[in-house]
Amino acid sequence: MPGRRFLHSPGPTPLPDAVMQAMAQQPMDLADPRVDACITACEEGLQRLMGTTGDVFLYASNGHGVWEAVVENLAEAGGAVLVPGTGVFSEGWAVQTESLGRTVVRTPVREGWPVDAAAVEQALRDDREHRIRAVFAVHTDTSTSVTSNLAAVRRAIDAAGHPALLVADVVASLGAAPFEMDALGVDVALGASQKGLMCPPGAGFVAVNRRAFQRAEANPAPRFYWDWVHRRHNASYRKYCGTPPLNLLFGMQAALELIFGEGLAQVHARHAQLAGAVHAAVEGWREGGALDFFAQVPETRSVSVTTVSVAQGFDALALRTLARENFQVAMAGGLGAQQGRAFRIGHLGDCNPAMILGALGGIEAALLQLGIPIGAGGVQRAVRALAGV
Ligand SMILES: *Cc1c(COP(=O)(O)O)cnc(C)c1O
Repeated sequence: MPGRRFLHSPGPTPLPDAVMQAMAQQPMDLADPRVDACITACEEGLQRLMGTTGDVFLYASNGHGVWEAVVENLAEAGGAVLVPGTGVFSEGWAVQTESLGRTVVRTPVREGWPVDAAAVEQALRDDREHRIRAVFAVHTDTSTSVTSNLAAVRRAIDAAGHPALLVADVVASLGAAPFEMDALGVDVALGASQKGLMCPPGAGFVAVNRRAFQRAEANPAPRFYWDWVHRRHNASYRKYCGTPPLNLLFGMQAALELIFGEGLAQVHARHAQLAGAVHAAVEGWREGGALDFFAQVPETRSVSVTTVSVAQGFDALALRTLARENFQVAMAGGLGAQQGRAFRIGHLGDCNPAMILGALGGIEAALLQLGIPIGAGGVQRAVRALAGV
């Protein structure tokens, strides 16, 4: 079908033309001052985006790579980490941490709810010997589309008087929802290129404050590629432990320029506006009785992605296929226990009102074709939300 297929997965997300053009150039020799300038621009841009003066380390990796980087740098073999339950992403990080020989303490996942800060505080109080090295908190869990309150997690750690570091996974929220690493008292933040940053997959990054860096220095766990101490180097390309993913970094530099050109506050406001339109449509659809928000608390609904649960007897996978093949709207499916029982609409990154209305219109058409009952006026509500009337 002619025209563009709209990509509304919560990652990878569509690439702005400026990012594609920036990547469409020949690689350079590593001593070229343009390489140094690009790496510096990416590091400084990411610091600004995350609100931190901490060290930024970029890896040729996806988000799972930087999950591993955090484990290897902050916990020794047999050391423990607390992972507050949020959904598929907290559990994935916990399983990966255990696979690396660390112990994981979990707080329970409450489906459709944010991190339970009281449970975090209790788990830390119970750890009298201070075996827990860090709390690994997922800011927006992309499976549930719930955004948790990182300030509440910080308060829980402080209230328990526990020395654990706070590590925030902002893969799905950075560049969409406000996040101020230093002001929040987050010690390490991690992200990836392919979501709110509007770049292709393949670059992961962490920001590390002094306290966390010192912990890494004192951590005897054997490591090399992921090691922050080893990566802190004056020659910027050396920070990559080999060849940097140059063309991806050219794209990231362009993406950061787009974000700061628009203005970070405006970027956040646009995401809130577009999320509001999607939520308005779902409010309309759910009146048919077959669809509902997965996120139970309206204030915790993510500005990046919306998970819509589908009642038993209706086929969420068929809906996705129909939306993609007949109407050119590619969405994501339910993850974990939600597989086949939910669909997820991504609304982050390079996105505007016309694109959102197009996507919602395509999804509504697919819902009608499949005979999934929806209330009248889903898309119309989104139009009104965008018009502010
Ligand atoms: C996408 C995502 C990840 C994993 O990133 P990959 O690049 O797919 O490995 C981790 N955490 C969150 C919250 C995510 O949304």
